[in-house]
Amino acid sequence: MPTTKAPERLLDLAGVGPKVEVALNRLGIFELKDLLFHLPARYEDRTQVVKLAEMQLGTPRLLEGEITASQVIPGRRMQAVLTFEDTTGAARIRLFHFSRAYLSTLKSADHVRIFGEARSHQGAIEFVHPEITVFKGVPPALDDTLTPIYPTTEGLTQPRLRNIIQQVLDLGPDYFQLAELLDPATLKQRPSLWDALHAVHRPTKGLPPDADVERLALEELLAHRLLLLSRRADFSRFQAPAVSTDGCATRAQLIQRLPFDLTQAQARVLSEIDGDVNQPHPMLRLLQGDVGSGKTLVAGLAALPLIEAGYQVALMAPTELLSEQHANQFSDWLQPLGISVGWLSGSMKAAPRRAVLEHIASGACQMVIGTHALFQAEVVFNRLGLVIIDEQHRFGVAQRLLLREKGSGLTPHQLIMTATPIPRTLAMTQYADLDVSVIDALPPGRTPVDTRLVSQGRDQDITERLDAQFSEGGQAYWVCTLIEENDQLQAEAAESRMHKLQTLLPHRRIGLVHGRMHSDEKSHVMQAFSEGALDLLVATTVIEVGVNVPNANIMVIENPERLGLAQLHQLRGRVGRGSRVSFCILLYGDQLSEQAKSRLQLLRETNDGFKLAAADLERRGPGDVSGTRQTGELLFKLADLNHHAHLLDEVATMADTVMRQQPAIRDALIARWIGHQEHFAHV
Ligand code: ADP
Ligand code: MG
Repeated sequence: MPTTKAPERLLDLAGVGPKVEVALNRLGIFELKDLLFHLPARYEDRTQVVKLAEMQLGTPRLLEGEITASQVIPGRRMQAVLTFEDTTGAARIRLFHFSRAYLSTLKSADHVRIFGEARSHQGAIEFVHPEITVFKGVPPALDDTLTPIYPTTEGLTQPRLRNIIQQVLDLGPDYFQLAELLDPATLKQRPSLWDALHAVHRPTKGLPPDADVERLALEELLAHRLLLLSRRADFSRFQAPAVSTDGCATRAQLIQRLPFDLTQAQARVLSEIDGDVNQPHPMLRLLQGDVGSGKTLVAGLAALPLIEAGYQVALMAPTELLSEQHANQFSDWLQPLGISVGWLSGSMKAAPRRAVLEHIASGACQMVIGTHALFQAEVVFNRLGLVIIDEQHRFGVAQRLLLREKGSGLTPHQLIMTATPIPRTLAMTQYADLDVSVIDALPPGRTPVDTRLVSQGRDQDITERLDAQFSEGGQAYWVCTLIEENDQLQAEAAESRMHKLQTLLPHRRIGLVHGRMHSDEKSHVMQAFSEGALDLLVATTVIEVGVNVPNANIMVIENPERLGLAQLHQLRGRVGRGSRVSFCILLYGDQLSEQAKSRLQLLRETNDGFKLAAADLERRGPGDVSGTRQTGELLFKLADLNHHAHLLDEVATMADTVMRQQPAIRDALIARWIGHQEHFAHV
């Protein structure tokens, strides 16, 4: 009997050649062992054939039947529409890639199996490009178990990847001798690592048991927490400018000139920041404060001692609009104190841009404001001492690290500001490396925004009300929302709304901003609105964060049901900033469900962003609220905060022990779960 040598490298596995190896590397897989930790993202069920009549929409299932009709529909994008029937009903299949020969094979086949996700489209059940298998006589055997579906990459098909992973599982636990890195007490009541991995890759009956999934989730959450805590520990070894904030003359002058006093909450968080900046190690602080709580001023005051001590301060905002507004605000505050403020925007023309870059590099520009553009390689600071990031709770770990590089020699202090409350689950995972300060009170004298739900049928009433407010000197925003993150469609919706409003209010001055406009144009319109030269600003959600025009006192939000509560609260925060009574009108569509309506009612009942975020969280789960799935930051392979939040306390305790006593285990866990993921090194 020929003995086959056990594989040692990826290339020794069947189906792995140099090209596939490169693809595997892209997935962070370099050794055989890494394949064990490449976990399924989900499972597909090909273990049974279901009937059309019993099938649920939205979950891919296997069906068996015949193709009874086919039709080719010409057009810009040619498509084939087939009729699929089983004994219980009929459905439509839509194909965009096909040949006529293929269609005739399908039609002449006795039987077909299709595997795909059914959707309801124009009253019919429809499959778009399902997998179709043709057979005659005896149907092919069904799978015994659920099919794992893995994250994959170009050049590596799902079946090939699955096969590669199965080969590695076949090598068995003795081959790998995976070390159990969790402490024995934890392991006592839990499956072994091998068993858990095996169950997840090869579920025997239905989905893998919770105990196995949890065993892995626990380890993964622990690895991520350890990574953050180690980064934090690394950080405390870096050198940062230690600046004393006592006797900062420019700060005293600015405070003296303000038409109001700092709130107690502002003063408190400022002293927390001062305490950090006074240390020779970089601050890593998250400043949380509801919309309108006055975070910008805190940022300005925090910057002054560093600037006085000869360092530069950078302020980064998420949108160009907001960065420009900050640039104006900081110029108003700081230029009279003899401090030079520069604005770097992504859309600047080459010459002014070069000039700003030179001033940043020479240190002539002391306070630098911009968008992400600030962190491009070509932006070289002279002596960067503090980086402030506005409205970015999504500012990821990798980006936080990148900032280090900007501080030639010294690592700048970091202050991250957000109006979005961080749920505990995220605070314990994504933000375990940050200290947190909270501004928990609004400046005095604010009247809460009066929020109303109005059905779209009544827009006539609304234009009348707007008209009356304009006569009294008020101003309004009209926000158009669309579900799609599609600038073009959003822009079109806003444009057509503006035209409608222009016919209804012909004597009023109406402006428009959307993401498709050139930034000069946008800022021109914003400027006009903020100077009172426009009565009404029709906008997309580009104005969501940070925009500050205190005279504006009405906000109309079209189709508010399309947005989360936290986002609506952000938008609503654009009004209620001045002394006028303010309104927020939620103009909902006529098909709104009772449930959706009751969700919007919450906005009427409270102006408290923390309560609203909690309500959002309850309904949608932390993954959605935080946008972590979208930002690709700290993505878990398997742990899911919606299901595994109950593990976090245990994880925190375990992490503390490991950090204190077992550095080798820390490194091994990080390597095992996150090790090769390059996204911590590059953004
Ligand atoms: P946010 O926390 O949402 O970023 P801003 O910094 O934009 O809030 O502040 C909102 C408004 O409140 C601004 O017009 C600002 O000038 C004003 N403001 C800030 N601090 C105070 C204060 N202590 N008293 C009164 N108004 C304040
Ligand atoms: Mg702000």
